[in-house]
Amino acid sequence: MKKKHLQPRTLSVHAGSSGDPQFGGTVTPLFPSAAYDYRSGNILYPRYFNTPNHRAVAEKMAALEKGEDALTFSSGMAAIFTSMMALLRAGDHAVFQNDLYGGTHHAVLNELNRYGIEYTLVDASHPANFEKAVKKNTRILYVETPSNPLLKITDLPAVVKIARRHKLITLIDNTFASPVNQNPLELGIDIVLHSGTKYIGGHSDLMCGVVVSSKKFVDIIKQSAIHFGGHADAYTCWLVERSLKTLYLRVHQQNDNAQQLAEWLSAHKKIARVYYPGLKSHPGHAVAKNQMSGFGGMLSFDVKGDADRVVNRLELIKPAVSLGGVESTINQPHKTSHRRLTSDERKAAGITDKLLRLSTGVEDVNDLMKDLDNALK
Ligand SMILES: *Cc1c(COP(=O)(O)O)cnc(C)c1O
Repeated sequence: MKKKHLQPRTLSVHAGSSGDPQFGGTVTPLFPSAAYDYRSGNILYPRYFNTPNHRAVAEKMAALEKGEDALTFSSGMAAIFTSMMALLRAGDHAVFQNDLYGGTHHAVLNELNRYGIEYTLVDASHPANFEKAVKKNTRILYVETPSNPLLKITDLPAVVKIARRHKLITLIDNTFASPVNQNPLELGIDIVLHSGTKYIGGHSDLMCGVVVSSKKFVDIIKQSAIHFGGHADAYTCWLVERSLKTLYLRVHQQNDNAQQLAEWLSAHKKIARVYYPGLKSHPGHAVAKNQMSGFGGMLSFDVKGDADRVVNRLELIKPAVSLGGVESTINQPHKTSHRRLTSDERKAAGITDKLLRLSTGVEDVNDLMKDLDNALK
């Protein structure tokens, strides 16, 4: 059977997972060696992203994102920043959507100018804004959809059209969607980035980052990555390979839970507003429906009462940063991802002190509703 023709859910279990040919074991063994025989001429070394546990994750992620190859880094930020720095040089210009993950936003603001790289941040709700920002020296166009924490949707086919017109390389942070809900390479995006710390790891117990693309771009990024040294270690790769086998089960359950919670919260009298792309009332709903196969496990909402009190009264849903784990977690963006903004900047971005961001886990949704209802009373 050619693996290429298998369904994604099947690929999540089997792609890249070689098993153990020596003893007939079911799972890929852990290969922690940092020193390998060089005599074949093919030198394996963890920092070269080519040891067996690396390759297992790379093949699985490439299959799930419908790319040709992948690299696994020690964190999402290592994957994101290495990719940018591999593609940009002094004198280049980059266009980013302004609604970025806090760490990426901070890195752009504080690092790029030091290397002689210019950038423009644009409001992604109108794709034409990207085109307006393009200059002679623009080289990359970087998007993130759904975005954090208001789940705004960027129109990917529109962005791809603009990028092709100006011969720009497109990158997307696909962390919130996961490969289950959105495969941007199929829509014409060049490079997909993930914080594997989230849905890909899925159990809130590891950090990694993944780049998936064509062989051409993966090779370019790998050359710089070998210099920067941001590879994931063998044990992390081994855990990630295991986690990916349940990615579809987890994310489908998280999609279902989030949709039900979003609808239920929309009708709750203690809730002022719900942000979820699966709701018809969400401004990005039609675009999301066109480019995503599921709306994801993340939702946000404004409470009418005191948000601190709601969070403190929850029993099942844990107050925590990060997201994408099997356990539901909640946080307050004004105290976490957006704490470094002034209150005026937060207001402009639509982030109130009453906003809560929920990462739905795989629990029974009725238990989650009871917990929220009790906390909102
Ligand atoms: C967490 C996150 C990152 C950064 O990933 P790390 O693994 O923390 O380095 C980047 N983008 C998004 C959307 C994230 O949620």
